[in-house]
Amino acid sequence: MKIAIDMDEVLADPIVKFIELYNRDYGVPLDLKIEPGNEMFQHVPEQINNKWFDYINEKGFFRNLPLIEGSVDAVKKLQEKYEVYIVSAAMEFPNSLEDKYHWLAEHFPFIGWKNIIFCGEKIVNTDIMIDDRAKNFIDFKGRTLLFTSPHNLLLTDYERVDNWRQVLDKLM
Ligand SMILES: [Mg+2]
Repeated sequence: MKIAIDMDEVLADPIVKFIELYNRDYGVPLDLKIEPGNEMFQHVPEQINNKWFDYINEKGFFRNLPLIEGSVDAVKKLQEKYEVYIVSAAMEFPNSLEDKYHWLAEHFPFIGWKNIIFCGEKIVNTDIMIDDRAKNFIDFKGRTLLFTSPHNLLLTDYERVDNWRQVLDKLM
């Protein structure tokens, strides 16, 4: 059985980094609360809410993102039972490619390069997909697990996992 695992907001946490950068440059509070269904940038003043796009396109943005809690141990565990692929729509931000590769090599050295898929649309035929963006489930034929993130909290049509503990409970 093959499983496709997303990176951002599933393995890595870009939201914390965005808030840190907005805090550094504009004093946005570090404990910024994101309301269910909203994106981070909807909670910063309108004149700077496009700034996230500059941050994310800067080389280095993805190189030092914090880990989502429990992700390393959980992926290692999943490898005992599944062929694990990391699938990231990295083409959306071409400067992210090298950063994401090195970030994975640092934190997930047990994932070989053949199991890393950097792509545009996620057209993959794995048996399971774990992702925080429901748009990636369109046309996907396997089982989907929606990994909870503030922006998807109002969606009810998907099998949801709130954290990596719940992923292991469902899949191991
Ligand atoms: Mg994601």
